Amino acid sequence: MNIERIKNLIRAFYPFAKTKLGFEEPVKIRYITNDMANSQDPFGKTAYYNPEQKSVTLFILNRHPKDILRSFAHELTHHAQHCRGDISQEVSTQEGYAQNDPHMREMEKEAYMEGGMLVRDWTDTLEEREREMLLENEDKQHKEVEKTKKTLRDNEEVNDMFEDRRNRLNKKLMDKFIKPTKKEGNIG
Ligand SMILES: [Zn+2]
Repeated sequence: MNIERIKNLIRAFYPFAKTKLGFEEPVKIRYITNDMANSQDPFGKTAYYNPEQKSVTLFILNRHPKDILRSFAHELTHHAQHCRGDISQEVSTQEGYAQNDPHMREMEKEAYMEGGMLVRDWTDTLEEREREMLLENEDKQHKEVEKTKKTLRDNEEVNDMFEDRRNRLNKKLMDKFIKPTKKEGNIG
């Protein structure tokens, strides 16, 4: 798993989401990277928003980056709701609020819909140039990691990052040679 890649993605998406959701106060972001038991639990946590601390916590172990991004967008929507005075601090901790509290049920609906659409709109409108910039930033970080790697030869995570990069370069090369004959009209 490449934590820096996830953080880059989150950083790149955040200003877009902030503008679209229209909140002023910045949110704090916490990453949980090592909760193996949670990552294997079908009913485990993926993310949550803490109104008191105005923080979003993201569980990122063993998840697809876009899935993490959707979680982030969902919780950011809750932050926007909180900033505009729609979420009180007590209600968020009561179990079953999404089923039993009609107002919070509406808040959940908004978070699922707005959060999902935010990610969809962002990825659909990212120019090729911007996607490349995201990857370039990654490459810069890989070079920095390369320096560090000399002193951390047995660090598995660092090695994984290079493996990711090699796979990506291989895929790019493969894509160049195997061009699809017609565009497939998938709806995701
Ligand atoms: Zn929610």
